[in-house]
Amino acid sequence: MPKRLIVIGGGFAGSKIAKKLQNSFHVTLIDRKNYFEFTPGILKSIVYPNKVDNIQILHKNYLRNSNVIVESVKKINDSEVILENNKKLEYDLLVIASGSRYNKPIKDMLAVSSVRKEEISKYHEKLKDSGSVLIVGGGIVGVEIAAEIVSRYRKKIVLVHSYSRLIRRNSREASRYARKFLERKGVKLMLGERFVSEKEGYFMTDRGNSLKSDMIILCTGITPNSEFVDSKFLDDKGFVSVDENLKVRDNWFCCGDTAAIDEEKTAQGAEKQADTVIYNILNHEKMRKYAPQKRPVVISLGKYSGILEYKGLVITGMIPRIMKSIIELKTMISKKL
Ligand SMILES: Cc1cc2nc3c(=O)[nH]c(=O)nc-3n(C[C@H](O)[C@H](O)[C@H](O)COP(=O)(O)OP(=O)(O)OC[C@H]3O[C@@H](n4cnc5c(N)ncnc54)[C@H](O)[C@@H]3O)c2cc1C
Repeated sequence: MPKRLIVIGGGFAGSKIAKKLQNSFHVTLIDRKNYFEFTPGILKSIVYPNKVDNIQILHKNYLRNSNVIVESVKKINDSEVILENNKKLEYDLLVIASGSRYNKPIKDMLAVSSVRKEEISKYHEKLKDSGSVLIVGGGIVGVEIAAEIVSRYRKKIVLVHSYSRLIRRNSREASRYARKFLERKGVKLMLGERFVSEKEGYFMTDRGNSLKSDMIILCTGITPNSEFVDSKFLDDKGFVSVDENLKVRDNWFCCGDTAAIDEEKTAQGAEKQADTVIYNILNHEKMRKYAPQKRPVVISLGKYSGILEYKGLVITGMIPRIMKSIIELKTMISKKL
C-alpha cells in the first residue's frame, strides 16, 4: 500500500512535488485555488488581461493520478490535516508548500480560476480608466509593473520607494538601468520616501508630501502562509523552520516561499527546493542537503527590454525580455506534459 502523502499548496514547489510523486505515493494536493498560476506573469496580465489564460492551469489537468482538494488548511497535527470545513485527512508524509501572500490583485487566494480572470479584467479596466497611478515599492515587482504600464499607456505614474535606489537587492548597475528606463518613460520617482496613509484620495508620505492619484498599486513585501502551523515550528517572521534536508520534523518537509531558508524567495528557488524534497522523500535513508544559492534574476521592463543579472554580470535590453517569456512558456509546458 503506497504511503499517503499530503502536499499543502499548489504553487511552484507543491505542484512539482505532487506531479513528480503521484505515481509512487497516494498523493493529495490541497490548495485554496483550483489552479496553478505562473506568478511572474501576472503583472503583464494586469496590463494585457487576455494573457491570463496563458499563465494558469487547473490542478486537475496535470495531476491526473492525485487527489486534488480545493480548500484552505486550518490546522495540522502529528497525523492529520484539518481543513477549513473541519474535514480531517490522515497522512504518513506531509509537505508544506503554502508559499506567501502579496497584495491583491498581484497574488490572490481566490478558489476558482474564472473568478480570478474576472478580477484581473476588472482591475485592468480600472487601470485603463485611471489618469494617474501611484506605485508603492521599488523592488522588482514595483519596477516591473511601472514598466508594463508605461509601455502600454500614457499615464501619470509616480513610484514611491523608501530606499535610495530601486531594486536595491540587485547590483548598482541593474538599479541604474531600471531608474533610467523608468525616468526616460516619464515615471516620477520619489526615492527615500515612504507612503504612510491615504486621506480623501490624497496619499501622504513620511516627508509630508501629499499626492493625488486615481489608483494605488501596493508592491510591498511578502507574508508567509503559515497560520496553520504551530508557532513552535516558526521563526520570528512566521517562516517555517527547516533543517538542511528541508525537514521540519520526522514526517514533515517544507519548501518554497514559506520555508525559512536564507535565499531570495523566487520561483526558481522554490522549484530547486522541491527537487531536494522529492529526492529526500524517495531516498529517506540517504537524504541530501539543500544548498541556498544566488540564482539568476530576470526582470522584464515592458515589451522590449529587461535586465538579467547573474554572478555580477548584468545584461540589459531585449535578450532578458525574451528570456523571461521563454521561462514562462517552458514552465507552463512542463506542467502540461
Ligand atoms: C508579482 C511577482 C512577480 C514575481 N516574479 C518572479 C520572477 O520573475 N522570477 C522568480 O523566480 N520569482 C518571481 N516571483 C516569486 C515567486 O512567484 C515565488 O517565489 C513563488 O511563487 C513561490 O512558490 P511557492 O510554491 O513557494 O508558493 P506560491 O506560489 O505562493 O504557492 C502557494 C500555494 O499555496 C496555497 N495556499 C496557501 N495557503 C494555503 C492554505 N492554508 N491551505 C491551502 N492552500 C494554501 C496558495 O493558494 C498557493 O497556490 C514573483 C513574485 C511575485 C508576487
